Amino acid sequence: MNLKTVVSDIGIGIASLLFPNICLICEERISSSVLVCDGCWGKLKPNSEEVIRSKNIPENLDSVYPVFEFTDEIQTIIHNMKYAGRRSLARELGRRVAWHIPAGFINSDAVLVPIPLFPVKRRERGYNQAELIAQGIAEFVDIPINTKLIKRVKNTVTQTHLDAQQRHENMQNAFAIADASMLNSIRSIVLVDDVFTTGATMNAAATVLKAADVENIKALTVAAPI
Ligand SMILES: [Zn+2]
Repeated sequence: MNLKTVVSDIGIGIASLLFPNICLICEERISSSVLVCDGCWGKLKPNSEEVIRSKNIPENLDSVYPVFEFTDEIQTIIHNMKYAGRRSLARELGRRVAWHIPAGFINSDAVLVPIPLFPVKRRERGYNQAELIAQGIAEFVDIPINTKLIKRVKNTVTQTHLDAQQRHENMQNAFAIADASMLNSIRSIVLVDDVFTTGATMNAAATVLKAADVENIKALTVAAPI
């Protein structure tokens, strides 16, 4: 071991003492560059078929599938993914979503369409978490991702404090077809987003796609509040 390596190792050692990596959920120390420990990832609980069936399906969607229960763990992960710049969480969530997609949910001719952000919001955040989730899904499911078909044309206000009717009004005309030439070859779409609440966002996107004669539109999300 030469002097340079020793100094470098000491530097890393001091850095890890000063800035230990701790799990965002349980705050246990974990190995570098990982944000959530294996134990906490393992605590994510897939929704039962009964819960999935109980979800209200908005009029322009053929089915909805929120994969995980809306636990404290998932809320912490989603919050950090969206508002704290922790983009690696999105891809990992996508991988874990992929493991729980039921057989037959994704049609063989389907494409994944992540719900787009309004361009200003995307620039501010630096990424679209729905797109990263879709990339994680596509690592395990052989399905193309399309980020060019639809666009967000309305800078909608945050929906956290809105009721179902207000969410519906907020999302009206929020999306448009961005590239109609793609529609010829697309008959089946799986919309991807982080959270399915009232379904107003998914339904607004599905509305423009149904109007453009897409036959089958499903929604796949990480979680849904009960
Ligand atoms: Zn943990």
